[in-house]
Amino acid sequence: MNIIEKQTGTAFKMKTGQILKVIDPEGEQVSDMVLFNANDRREKLSSGKTLDFESTLLITEGHYLWSNRSHKMMKIVKDTNGRNDFLLAPCSPETFQILYNDPEYHPSCFENLYTHLAEFGITPDDIPTAFNIFMNVQFDLDGRLSVVPPKSKAGDYVLFEAKMDLIVGLTACSAEQSNNYSFKPIHYELI
Ligand SMILES: [Zn+2]
Repeated sequence: MNIIEKQTGTAFKMKTGQILKVIDPEGEQVSDMVLFNANDRREKLSSGKTLDFESTLLITEGHYLWSNRSHKMMKIVKDTNGRNDFLLAPCSPETFQILYNDPEYHPSCFENLYTHLAEFGITPDDIPTAFNIFMNVQFDLDGRLSVVPPKSKAGDYVLFEAKMDLIVGLTACSAEQSNNYSFKPIHYELI
């Protein structure tokens, strides 16, 4: 069991066929995940391709996460919570300035992703829209988006099976609104 402390992140490699278990140990905590092909980092997770090929905005158990080159990167083999987001980019320093009007330094998923992924040669501009595990983004019929508290309860988890050799970036999200205004750790396991 590995622990991502609140408002931090990590990066690691995964082999084809390995299972990643991402756990919300306390409930109501989002984890942003980005993926890169370990053998060619220009191939990476694509929200647009995934929403297109899976024909839904709500990606959960049974769906695949697809790359910008239209290859399967992961399969979601189990999702005990069932609500994730694949529309919004990782929270970044600018998120807090633009959306929250906060001029002070604020930890962010974007910074936590690119600092840990740097050891794999990945730069800030390479970071795609993350798959936001446990994030609860609601949309009205007119298209209006709202970020509401996650539905995840303590112990909820998602199992992802790698369909290629991967570099994975993973966070415990730092945005107040996404996590019902309290920051908690994320646990993960490679099986
Ligand atoms: Zn975040």
